[in-house]
Amino acid sequence: MTIHYNFHPLDFNDFFYRCMTIKKTRNSQNWQQALAQVITNPDELCSHLALDKKALVDAHPAIQQFPLRVPRGFVSRIKKGDLNDPLLLQILPQGIETQNVPGFSKDPVGEQNVNPIPGLLHKYKGRVLLTLSGSCAIHCRYCFRRHFPYAENNPGKNGWNKALEYISQDKGINEVILSGGDPLVVKDDMLREFISALEKITHLKRLRIHTRLPIVIPERITEQFIKSLTQTRLQPVIVFHCNHANEIDDSVMQAFNLLRAANITLLNQSVLLKGINDSVSALVNLSETLFNSGVLPYYLHLLDPVQGSAHFFVEEQKASELVWQLMQELPGYLVPKLVKEVAGAPAKIQLGIMMNCT
Ligand SMILES: *Cc1c(COP(=O)(O)O)cnc(C)c1O
Ligand code: SF4
Repeated sequence: MTIHYNFHPLDFNDFFYRCMTIKKTRNSQNWQQALAQVITNPDELCSHLALDKKALVDAHPAIQQFPLRVPRGFVSRIKKGDLNDPLLLQILPQGIETQNVPGFSKDPVGEQNVNPIPGLLHKYKGRVLLTLSGSCAIHCRYCFRRHFPYAENNPGKNGWNKALEYISQDKGINEVILSGGDPLVVKDDMLREFISALEKITHLKRLRIHTRLPIVIPERITEQFIKSLTQTRLQPVIVFHCNHANEIDDSVMQAFNLLRAANITLLNQSVLLKGINDSVSALVNLSETLFNSGVLPYYLHLLDPVQGSAHFFVEEQKASELVWQLMQELPGYLVPKLVKEVAGAPAKIQLGIMMNCT
C-alpha cells in the first residue's frame, strides 16, 4: 500500500499518526528499500560503528570471497566501538577466514549430492527443501552456504515447474521447506503465486519457511505476507535464524507479535558460535527473549565445518556441556536441541548431553 505524504503529521492526533507509522514500516517498499540500502562498504561500516579502519586491513581477500553485506537496522543494534560485539562478529569480514584449516571444506554437508533437480534438496523423509532464492539480506561469516553453487541452483520462475512436478509425483512428501539463501528476499506477489501452486498438491500438509530476514529487516513482515500464510490451506511454520538476544529489538518483537497474532507457529534455530553465543548466559538470554515474543527454540546447530569459519567452531564436548547446563537453568521447552549435520545421515544428528560434567 502506498502512503501519500500530502499532510503534515502534526495535523493528526498522536494515535492516528502512530497507526500511519506502523503501516508505513509494513509496506513492501520499506523492506525493499532497506534491502537496497544494505551496507557493503567496509569503510562505511567502520565509520558508522566508530571502528578503526585497521580492523579490516587484512580482510580484503575474505571480502572478495564473500562480500560484506549488512542491513542498516542490524547495524544499529551493534554497540559502537566494540570489536567483540556479538552481532558485529557475525558480519565483520576477517583475514583469518582465508586460512585453510584441515577438516573444513567447501561442501561440508554433502548437499551437492542430494540435489536431484536445481533448487530442490531431498535429504530427509517426508520433507523437501527448496532454495527459493540464492541471495540474503545479510552475509553471516560462518554461513555454510558461502561456497554453495547458487548460480546453477537458482532456476528462476520457470525452473520451478520441475520442482513442483517432483513434489507432485512423490506422495510421501508432506512438507515443503522454503529456504535459500533467504526465501523472503522474494517479493510477496511471487511468494503468493508459489504458495498457491504448492497448495494444489494434495498430499502436502505443511509449509515451512526458514528465514533470517525478519530478524535483520523486520519490516519484511508485511500484511500481504501474513495474508499469504493465513489464507493457504497449508499449515504454516516459520523457523527464524537468530543467534543472540541483542538481535531482537522492539521492531523484531513487533514482527514476531504480528505473526503470532496470525496463529503461525514460530520457532528459532541458532548456530553455536565461539565468542558470540557460546556461554550459558548468552543462550539462556536468547531462549528467554525469544519466548517473551512467543518463539520457541528449535535447534542449536553445531557449526558445519565450512572453509573460512574455523575460528567460530565450538567443539562437540564443550557444546554438550553447555546444553547440559542450559537444561539446569531453563524449562525443557526452552532448551534447543543440539544437532549436527552429517553428510548422508537420514536426519540431523542430536548430540548427547554430558551426564557427568556437573
Ligand atoms: C535441515 C533440513 C531439513 C529439515 O530438517 P528438520 O529436522 O525437519 O528441521 C530438511 N531438508 C534439508 C535438506 C535440511 O538440511
Ligand atoms: S542468512 Fe542464512 S543463508 Fe544467508 S548468509 Fe546468513 S546464515 Fe547464510
